[in-house]
Amino acid sequence: MIQTATLAPDDIGLAAAAATLRAGGLVAFPTETVYGLGGDAGDDMAVARIFDAKGRPRFNPLIVHVAGVAQAEQIAVFTPAARDLARRFWPGPLTLVLPLRAAAGLSHLVTADLPSVALRVPAHPVALALLRAFGGPIAAPSANPSGRISPTTAAHVLEGLGGKIAAVLDGGPCAVGVESTILSLLDAPQILRQGGLAQEQIEAALGAAVLAGHDTSARPVAPGQLASHYAPNAGVRLNATLAEQGEVMIGFGPVQGDLTLSPSGDVVQAAANLFSSLRAADVLASQRGASRIAVAPIPNIGLGRAINDRLSRAAAPRS
Ligand code: AMP
Ligand code: MG
Repeated sequence: MIQTATLAPDDIGLAAAAATLRAGGLVAFPTETVYGLGGDAGDDMAVARIFDAKGRPRFNPLIVHVAGVAQAEQIAVFTPAARDLARRFWPGPLTLVLPLRAAAGLSHLVTADLPSVALRVPAHPVALALLRAFGGPIAAPSANPSGRISPTTAAHVLEGLGGKIAAVLDGGPCAVGVESTILSLLDAPQILRQGGLAQEQIEAALGAAVLAGHDTSARPVAPGQLASHYAPNAGVRLNATLAEQGEVMIGFGPVQGDLTLSPSGDVVQAAANLFSSLRAADVLASQRGASRIAVAPIPNIGLGRAINDRLSRAAAPRS
């Protein structure tokens, strides 16, 4: 347990919040939709702490908040249509899913290792002031424990996450009270989640109909839900305590390997290292002509559940 500070949204509070984010800590902050649980989107440990604080059972990708279109364009590739929607509706309750730039510097965990990123510019003076004070992109899902109702006041945030996060910026109640609308522009425009911006407004701006989540013709809504989506090239064997012939070993705690998720057996650190370790092991396997990656057992507690969920997908039979 840590002491959760309540910060006023003035210069002193904002400076403290930005310093906390720079140190890898978590700060809940008001947006016009709901309170977000913010962490440095470029810091794997900070993003792992978000999943840990929320008790999320899965590493689904998080929305990344930015101060404006210019910062967004450094992170994602914008088409003219994306630029037009951003100009019209940002700041506001619209999240755009766009191709991720390779050099964007985001944590692999924040995008769940997808080649896409979900971006939004929030329309709340405190959120924008925090983004400017911090200077970089902030990952922020809703500031509630997984499965609970989204918070629209600082008191709600403290009820759910008090003792688990460094601070909450108290900016009063949120105006919209529902989450942002998520629009994927990876292929034909598709709404992944209905929210604070109406589908009709998006369609009017685009001059065309968009697919919505319930369309059965649409592709899988969350690519991360495909059983083998996160599979490396090499096969994966779980709960291994010793490498066999032709295997690259990923260790954890006392189980040593060619590399390790966490030498001290810390599941938050293991979550932070998960995607980069799978990639590194894959590279090592192809260099050595090894056909399989063996992974040490991870305890099924806290973030260990989400790690095991992801690992079991990586080990799933390939389609
Ligand atoms: P939230 O929990 O409010 O942060 O919403 C996250 C949701 O946004 C995810 O469950 C996805 O549906 C969507 N999303 C976020 N990031 C991505 C991404 N990189 N690619 C595709 N969809 C994303
Ligand atoms: Mg939520």
